[in-house]
Amino acid sequence: MMDDMTHQYSIFDYAEPDYNDTLDEILRLSAERRLENNIQLVKCCDTEPRGKFRSCEEYWVECPSCGKKTKTHRKYYQAMQAWNRGESEE
Ligand SMILES: [Zn+2]
Repeated sequence: MMDDMTHQYSIFDYAEPDYNDTLDEILRLSAERRLENNIQLVKCCDTEPRGKFRSCEEYWVECPSCGKKTKTHRKYYQAMQAWNRGESEE
């Protein structure tokens, strides 16, 4: 099967959360949620990839069909962006 990573990059695949210089954890988290909601994960094997986490600082994205996955990242949006840029563990 062809691994179709031809993907129209979106600015959200590179964007940083819009923290507005706040140090408030709640506001920072909601900025991260907003960015995550704007990132459209690229399909793999015609399947929706899954976001996974092991702790609140270990997130990755994985294809349930072929098992391809990203490295773990400290933030979920970073794992989503890595996936969309075609970065996988191997
Ligand atoms: Zn796959």
